Amino acid sequence: MIKVTSCSSLKFRFIIRNVQIHTYSKLDSLVSTFIAAIKSCSSVFSSRAIHAQIIKSLNYREGFIGDQLVSCFVKLGCEEEAEKLFDEMPDKDLVSWNSLISGYSRNGHVFRCLIAFNRMKFEQVMCNDVTLLSVISACTDMRALDEGKFIHGIALKLGLLCEPKVVNALINLYGRCGYVSEACGLFEAMRGQSLVSWNSMIGIHTQNGFVKEGMRLFNLMRRAEIKPDQATMVTLLKGCEDLGIGKLADTIHGLMLRCGLVASVTIATALLSLYSKLGRLFASQEVFGEMINPDRVAWTAMLAAYAVHGRGREAVELFELMVKKDMVPDNVTFTHLLSGCAHSGLVNEGKNYFRVMSEVYGIEPRLDHYSCMVDLLGRSGLLSEANDLIKHMPMEPNSGVWGALLGACRVYGNIELGKEAADRLFALDPSDSRNYIMLSNIYSAAGLWKEASKVRALMKKRGLIRNPGCSFIEHDNDIHHFAVGDQSHVQSEKIYKKLEELIMKIRAAGFASKTEYVLHDVEEEVKEDMINKHSEKLAIAFGLLVTEISMPLIITKNLRICGDCHSMAKFVSLIEKRTIIIRDSKRFHHFANGLCSCGDYW
Ligand code: ZN
Ligand code: ZN
Repeated sequence: MIKVTSCSSLKFRFIIRNVQIHTYSKLDSLVSTFIAAIKSCSSVFSSRAIHAQIIKSLNYREGFIGDQLVSCFVKLGCEEEAEKLFDEMPDKDLVSWNSLISGYSRNGHVFRCLIAFNRMKFEQVMCNDVTLLSVISACTDMRALDEGKFIHGIALKLGLLCEPKVVNALINLYGRCGYVSEACGLFEAMRGQSLVSWNSMIGIHTQNGFVKEGMRLFNLMRRAEIKPDQATMVTLLKGCEDLGIGKLADTIHGLMLRCGLVASVTIATALLSLYSKLGRLFASQEVFGEMINPDRVAWTAMLAAYAVHGRGREAVELFELMVKKDMVPDNVTFTHLLSGCAHSGLVNEGKNYFRVMSEVYGIEPRLDHYSCMVDLLGRSGLLSEANDLIKHMPMEPNSGVWGALLGACRVYGNIELGKEAADRLFALDPSDSRNYIMLSNIYSAAGLWKEASKVRALMKKRGLIRNPGCSFIEHDNDIHHFAVGDQSHVQSEKIYKKLEELIMKIRAAGFASKTEYVLHDVEEEVKEDMINKHSEKLAIAFGLLVTEISMPLIITKNLRICGDCHSMAKFVSLIEKRTIIIRDSKRFHHFANGLCSCGDYW
């Protein structure tokens, strides 16, 4: 028997030659050799050669070989050859059908998978749990709810709902499609729920925004004496991250400590990232400090936390420490390191690390690294250097790169380069309204109202609407949302009164509204009225009303914070002696004593 470990086309030629040279007394041995060759086959060429050899030597007398070949063809992307071979197979059985269907499912050919399944039914071949698992998984990937329900019906008819794997797959399908109650129904009817099913249920709830219900299930699971694992905790932490619920994160952290799960580097890293995303950099540092053997992912996560919070110096220090501890950085580490340098204006450091990345670590710069460098140079006003870098990139710049340049052009009021960057962005992604708004803002800030309105007209013509700004803040275990000019909050009246008082106070301290951030060329007074109702201002007023004086206000905004709200937050942090942390779509802004950690560049 010839041993086959991997099968490049060269190696395969060697194997085939050997098959021909050795006269096999036993057919079994030849079949095993072919199967090993098929399984390790990694190129279309070798799969075809094996196929030809099989036809010559065996003439498909072994059905199993055909099944393996079908799987192999599907894996290598030869769908038509797979089907042709499948059709030619004389005695197709359930295993053959399953090879074809699972091959399609595993390789993401969802439609072909469903078509093959229907054909199987039409040819009256009875399916089994393996078939259903493949089809359900394909439906889940595509969120094909109707098809999934149909398969659910078949599983019920065939009595396969007693198979935990089938039920778990259906639970995931319903969960992914947002049909949480259907998933619950299946789960409750299940006998002997396993850790996998509990994890699925917790995941479904958190992913669909029901984090508290996820927590309740987690407690039920523990009461049922099922021990949570890494997946359980990571799922719960992810849920908190999406919702931005800090209190819940603390609860989960406490539970993890009790279950001894924080010792896992993966979980601790997830916790570290969560705290960072919740604006609690200090808590991230604590979790990192307590890790016994942080791996590269953990170091990189801490570096990312420093970067997004605008703590470039700490990011650089951490990187140096990481290298000292013989930890080898990868391309992700460098992305965060460069982003940290960019967010803190460390131009020389950034340029140096960009060079070190390829020269010392042999990592070729990717698009992300170029975006960071353009951001870094642009931030320091080195716009033409940034533009030069783009011109000399070895690959086509993407929207991240042009977006970084456009952002810099807004800050420095560079209309010409801004127009070029925006044009590139419009070509790359004509449906992203943010780019139109950015260019329009550049024009508005320069008083070029006509140009600004042309951009808005283009945006309108393309049927794009401005994403409405929205901010939220956590209070009393709840998330309070605010839209622009929102009056729906129960305490709305009080909030507006507080806001009015605040604006009067900060005006007396020198705050002047930056009305150039209002898109429309309307009268100054009206502009001011519009800008004074921005969602983050409402959230700040609400935060001041309901939280204790010693507490920082942590606010999340879906878009970039505007210059006026940024300036207002700086004044409020000074006058009210409060730390205000605003996470916008780009980064964190820590406002304290009248200053922001971003150094007024974002
Ligand atoms: Zn604003
Ligand atoms: Zn800032």
